[in-house]
Order: sequence, then structure tokens, then C-alpha cells
Amino acid sequence: IYLQGSETHEDIRPPQSRRSEIMASQSAHIPNDRRFLIFFDFDETIVDETSDDMVVQTAPGQHLPTWLKDTYQPGRYNEYMQRVLAYLAEQGVTESDIRNVMEKLPATPGMLTLFQFLRTRPQQDFEVVLLSDANTFFIESWLRRAGARQLFHRIFTNPATFNRDGRLVMRPFHSHECQRCPDNMCKQVVVREYVARRTQERGRPYQRVFYVGDGANDFCPALALGPRDVAFPRRDFPMHRLITETHEAMPGEFKAVTVPWATAEDVVQRLRKLVVE
Ligand SMILES: [Mg+2]
Ligand SMILES: [Zn+2]
Repeated sequence: IYLQGSETHEDIRPPQSRRSEIMASQSAHIPNDRRFLIFFDFDETIVDETSDDMVVQTAPGQHLPTWLKDTYQPGRYNEYMQRVLAYLAEQGVTESDIRNVMEKLPATPGMLTLFQFLRTRPQQDFEVVLLSDANTFFIESWLRRAGARQLFHRIFTNPATFNRDGRLVMRPFHSHECQRCPDNMCKQVVVREYVARRTQERGRPYQRVFYVGDGANDFCPALALGPRDVAFPRRDFPMHRLITETHEAMPGEFKAVTVPWATAEDVVQRLRKLVVE
């Protein structure tokens, strides 16, 4: 990964925030001996659905009223989801209703095999991080049921907790100045800050950084990867299309090796080759 970055990248780095300090204090327990760092997106990468869409199944009639859907504004998705969660609570949807829906999300084909691969590698191989624009409650509900919570050293996502009225209240993850990304989260900022801080704590860089994703908001962080790193975009999803378009329009701008995947077993196959180096 390029820690120095180009001018474009420097421009979007926010001032040190309180959140960065919180993040720093939480990383104390992460082992410093891992050779590789692997990032995962959640929706349509780990699970084969979008959790924000699936939560609608808890609504009366399993759909949202038009007046509510009409309040969506481009770039303001996080605020829209907060209104959706408030509506669900008003309709009597409970914590366990939402958890039940999340626990039933299907894993993406091959993903549990990939998790098993990461789990059974020698301990010094993989540091595993989840980076998602969903929220802590959706993600942790699914991971716990799947028995995969322990695999992840860190989870970066929008914090969400139930308030006293039983409503799931979600807060934006951070603020940033990246023009490409939604207001509440630029995954590139998270990746850069995390890799920079961890490199300092470890006293050495990672051998390689991997990024497994599918969405348009996974393209921005993948731009920060260097030529030794590997981007794993889900085949024919927006992240893959954006990488392909960038290769055509601005050759050299996207630096990482690109390995599209249809099933996560494709990711396992490539990792198997890379770990023996
Ligand atoms: Mg996704
Ligand atoms: Zn961004």
C-alpha cells in the first residue's frame, strides 16, 4: 500500500479525529506478527444480500410506505436508513425481529470456505478486518450466528445500538472530504489510517494487503492499494466495473493486481498461491 499517497490522496485526509484516537486505543490487542492484511466488505461480499434492504422484511407487509422511500436523497443514504429504522420501531419491530432477519442472510458462495481457509492458516499469516457501510448490529448479528466473529480483528462500520424505546439508532462512522464517497464513510480514509497506524505499531509493513469487495464504495479504498497488493472485486459488480473503466481511461492509476471472483473459492485459490511465497 502507498502510505505517502499522491496529492489527490493527501487532499482527502481529514484532520485527526477523536474517532482515530478511539481506534488507536482499541488496537492494542491485535497481534503484530501477521504477514498479510485482508479487508472485507460485508453486503454482497460476505453475505449475498444487502442488509439494509433485507431489514425491510421486518416491516408490516414487508415493504416501506412510499412517503418514506420518497425521503431518500442521493449522498444521504445513512440519514435515510436512520429514518427507516425509526419507522420500523414505530411499527413495533423489535431487536429480535431484526436479528432474526440478519441471521438468515445467506453467505456468498464460497465465503465460508474462505473463512475456513483464513482460520486454518498458520497464525502469523492473516490480520482480518471488516469495513462496511452497514452497521454494528446487523454485522455482529450475522457474524455471531455464522460463528465467524472471532475471525475479525477489527470491524469498522457505523455504530448502532438500541435506545430505551427499542429503536435501533445508527450514527455516521466518521466525516471526511472525499468527493467520491457518501458523507458518512470513505473506506479509503479508513484503510489509509489503519494501515499507517498499524505499520507504525508493528514497526514494519505488511507483505501484502488484500481487499475483497463488490460495491462502488469499495473502489475508493482499492485505489490506495499498491502494485504488490491484490484487489478482489466481485465479478461484474460495480467495484469490478470501476476498476476496468479506470484501467481504460487512466492506465497506471489503479495499481493493485486485480483478481475478479464469482465465488469466494476463487479468492482462496489465489491466496493459496500467494501465501507460499
Ligand atoms: Mg458491498
Ligand atoms: Zn472515498
